Amino acid sequence: MKERPSFPARLPGSASAKKAKPATPANQPQGLGMDSSAVRQRMLQKLAGQGLRDPLVLQAMGAVERHRFVDSALVNQAYEDTSLPIGLGQTISKPGVVARMLELLRNGASGPLGRVLEIGTGCGYQAAVLSHLASEVYSIERLRGLHDKARENLRHLRLSRVHLLLGDGMLGYPAGAPYAGIVAAAGGEAIPQAWIDQLAVGGRLVAPVSHASGAAGGQSLMVLDKTAQGVRQTVLEAVHFVPLKSGVA
Ligand code: SAH
Repeated sequence: MKERPSFPARLPGSASAKKAKPATPANQPQGLGMDSSAVRQRMLQKLAGQGLRDPLVLQAMGAVERHRFVDSALVNQAYEDTSLPIGLGQTISKPGVVARMLELLRNGASGPLGRVLEIGTGCGYQAAVLSHLASEVYSIERLRGLHDKARENLRHLRLSRVHLLLGDGMLGYPAGAPYAGIVAAAGGEAIPQAWIDQLAVGGRLVAPVSHASGAAGGQSLMVLDKTAQGVRQTVLEAVHFVPLKSGVA
């Protein structure tokens, strides 16, 4: 009740939620919905301030309740532009990076994309955002613990067009191919050939890629466009993603 009386104090499960609202009937979510939507609006303003402009991406990020995807101890920070731990040494990307990648993926399209493949489901947040931007979302995760967590996090949204898969995303997911878009939330040393093969002609892939071995070992965001003439790659700004690993664990 000190700095932020209305949010996140009213979030379900937070210690103060039970004491703070004696006048509100139990299990009444309206107040929470309004509070968190106001905080999301502020997040959208900050994203716009960072130069993110795609109205569909901003709309989608305004619609998905990021606080439901993080640990209850972290709900305070859910709408700050920061990455957060989601367990098993992995992180949910910061909103600015999610918005940037999805804006690149959409590449100014006027409507939703067709089928999209996400590598690295993590807690399922970006898959939920993607569900507003694509006709079908295939999201693959190699860690069973996170795959299960994402399933749990997405359950209440009943997103029939989001398919959560447990597997090695380095192999892509051929059954859903070809994809209008592929987006990776983990970075390897190169873009796996399987992803390029499974991308539709006219499709776009957005992924972090580690700089070739050597000194700094940083990552850059890479955009790959597949055209009838071949593949065109563009290297963009530096980013920090968890490593892309092979196999299922
Ligand atoms: N989009 C996620 C971000 C998760 S972090 C979210 O919104 O929460 C990246 C995830 O990629 C981690 O969960 C990690 O386990 C996963 N990952 C790394 N290598 C992978 C691979 N080869 N196949 C599938 N997932 C992978």
